[in-house]
Amino acid sequence: MSTLNSSVDRDRPSTWRPYTDGACNTCVASCCMLPVEVKASDLIRLNLTTADEIENSIKKTAKRLKKEGVISSYREGSEFFMLTQKSNNDCYFLDSKTRRCTVYENRPDTCRGFPMKLGPRISFCPVVKN
Ligand code: SF4
Repeated sequence: MSTLNSSVDRDRPSTWRPYTDGACNTCVASCCMLPVEVKASDLIRLNLTTADEIENSIKKTAKRLKKEGVISSYREGSEFFMLTQKSNNDCYFLDSKTRRCTVYENRPDTCRGFPMKLGPRISFCPVVKN
């Protein structure tokens, strides 16, 4: 393990590294092992629900998605859904072998904005090289 890898702790943003162009090409998709909260609009874009279903009952939609294993929780106040993480912390949509997002074209806004617009430490990421 390189010095870079051993000093980055995903759970401690103070240890993260400045994001650089191309860093993702050789990373293990470390950011896809962080908790990801998404909005109903993201779930609609992912074809996991419809605007009608959300309008009918966002709570029932959350209950169904939780039962199906897509989300782990739903926060009523903020209307944020937490995507399920696998036992190794991988995102529900991360291909464990290729380390690539399986829904990249339709990925949630949270993922699109990370780390330059969103995240606990803007412009820093928990890069861990392959
Ligand atoms: S949806 Fe895709 S980009 Fe977003 S955390 Fe999951 S695997 Fe990564």
